Amino acid sequence: MPANVGPAKNVIIMIPDGMSVAGTTLTRWVDGGVKPLAMDELACALVRSYPSDAIINDSAPAGTAYACGITAQTGNIGEQEVYAGFDVVLGGGQKFFQPDVRKDKEDLVKVIKANYDVVTDTAAMKASKSAKLWGFFGMNGSTDLGYDLDRDPALVPSISEMTDKAIATLSSNKKGFVLMVEGSLIDWAAHANDPVGIVGDINAFDKAVTVAVDYAKKDKNTVVIVVTDHGNSGISIGNASTSSGYDTLKLSAVVDPLKKATRTAQGVADLINADRSDIAEVVAQYFGLTVSDDEIAKIKAAKDANDLRYVCQAVLGAKMAAAAKLGFTTGGHTGEDIELYVYSPKTAERPMGVVMNTDIARYMEKLLGTDLRALTARQFQLAPAAFAAKGAAVRFDFSDKANPVLVVMKGSKELKFRQNKSVAIVNGKETRLSGLVLYTGIAGGENWYVPEDAIELVN
Ligand SMILES: [Zn+2]
Repeated sequence: MPANVGPAKNVIIMIPDGMSVAGTTLTRWVDGGVKPLAMDELACALVRSYPSDAIINDSAPAGTAYACGITAQTGNIGEQEVYAGFDVVLGGGQKFFQPDVRKDKEDLVKVIKANYDVVTDTAAMKASKSAKLWGFFGMNGSTDLGYDLDRDPALVPSISEMTDKAIATLSSNKKGFVLMVEGSLIDWAAHANDPVGIVGDINAFDKAVTVAVDYAKKDKNTVVIVVTDHGNSGISIGNASTSSGYDTLKLSAVVDPLKKATRTAQGVADLINADRSDIAEVVAQYFGLTVSDDEIAKIKAAKDANDLRYVCQAVLGAKMAAAAKLGFTTGGHTGEDIELYVYSPKTAERPMGVVMNTDIARYMEKLLGTDLRALTARQFQLAPAAFAAKGAAVRFDFSDKANPVLVVMKGSKELKFRQNKSVAIVNGKETRLSGLVLYTGIAGGENWYVPEDAIELVN
């Protein structure tokens, strides 16, 4: 890490989820191989990325390391979306905010609508003038945005359009901003071993990097950090079939099959007709491959629309990989070092060499002139001890297991705090807090944490 890192007004951190270096190389070749990717000029270091209890990272602990500067256990995440008070949130997954799929049965869409201008298509997003903007986009039953190649541009904005809108909205804040942009479907395509999806979504992500870097170059006070959270799939250019002959493998052998595909394998599945009589035609037209009778039979046997997607990804992804001489070693994440890309107006102050993933948080800390440890001490105070010091009585209400409540009494005042919310209920009336209330569920309910202004409420 560089010793001196000067402050920056704005930081944009961009995370191409599950992007392996070979996927980046492949995207550059498919794009023509001459023009560099937007990321290329920013490459500056390698990053070690692993959780505290394993050697291959998952998205949650990896994201926590970037956000909090702490190596977390797998399965744990230090983030909260709805109650965190963000100004702009654009993405998919509306389904997961609805009471019927939530353990706590809370209607988070209602909470969001009370605090944000909520938009659900590209035109509405572009037209919104609100400083508090939430976008719920997505075609697949609102669970995700869908792959870039399969996207309906009227319903789902591209990642570069979302980045552009987020910067336009946030940059009106004179104090500066922090923006996190995630290219999430790169990871999904890698899990599915679909090289078409990998290349399509890295390409879309790289265009968003252009938008961010163009802004940073004009602004002269913005740093752009691009770093994945972990590798995925073990994608390789060259596979078992090129063990001999790799040194004469021509570019066209790799990129020509990929270029013929205009939809991902999942997108192809969605285009097959209801009686599945046009599998060969749809695959030929949108994936550029000729499927065998065996392959048609496998696809035809899919149980339902969702299974059809999985089967198409398995059959067509493997077929494309074989055609383009690509290898995959796993359907899971991989543990190699990952690439760090940084645009900074002060080039000499970029991290270099091999750094830890937690160093990314330390770097942002320096850029933003903040102290995460001091902030943690202020905003996550151990509630029982802090309230007891104020002469208040504390009890825990676990009558609804999915919604435990911390109850604090002093004189005629009753304060109630629910976990994972930045809200206090003072004598029955809701008051907004500056941070979240956390309950860790460890040690018999003692570990409740509250922000400093929650403690002041007993006065
Ligand atoms: Zn991830």
